[in-house]
Amino acid sequence: MIIAIDGPAASGKGTVAKAIAAHYGLEHLDTGLLYRATAAAVRKMGAAADDAQAGLRAARELKAGDLADTFLRNRHIGELASIIAAFPAVREALITMQRDFAARETGAVLDGRDIGTFICPDADVKLFVTASPEERARRRTLELEARGEATPYGEVLADIRKRDERDSGRSAAPLKMAEDAVLLDTTELDAQAAIAAGIAAVEAVLRSQQGQ
Ligand code: C5P
Repeated sequence: MIIAIDGPAASGKGTVAKAIAAHYGLEHLDTGLLYRATAAAVRKMGAAADDAQAGLRAARELKAGDLADTFLRNRHIGELASIIAAFPAVREALITMQRDFAARETGAVLDGRDIGTFICPDADVKLFVTASPEERARRRTLELEARGEATPYGEVLADIRKRDERDSGRSAAPLKMAEDAVLLDTTELDAQAAIAAGIAAVEAVLRSQQGQ
């Protein structure tokens, strides 16, 4: 079984994806880490964020082991990742890693921006997890504070809006809900309620497929 979960930054998609994977005994890949690790490698090369050639080289050389670094969760790396993710050649270089992961015999949950629309268009279940920009900024502010990267709420909200605009506005695989995805709005939900709603949504899709 393949479950595709997409949505904007800090929507809760990672939390929901991880819990769904554990619930069904599936492997989980946070595909944002691929773009973050590529961005971190470009930075390490000393190249500019908008250097497409450096981005392509970094994406081609990416190894699964590069995804474990906690530094990748850094706020500035997220911003850089979204700049690099707009280059079609960089996206192309990361396709195989994602599709190979999805093809595992154990089944998989992948979360990102273009999983249901492009990476796994035939996924068994697709969820689109979202929340208001203000709520996502509130969550991200708390997260950053807990990690010792305290940032004013207004700045975090501006970052989130900029990233939404860049991720949805790019021409290569933009952030968009797949036509056959189930919408899960977590604005009014805490993590436990979002997880429960995510599992209930997957169950409903599976039940409707069994009835067909
Ligand atoms: O999900 P996360 O915030 O870690 O992703 C970082 C950036 O990577 C996103 O803002 C987006 O530009 C890019 N990304 C993407 N496609 C994915 C996953 C992430 O373009 N499937």
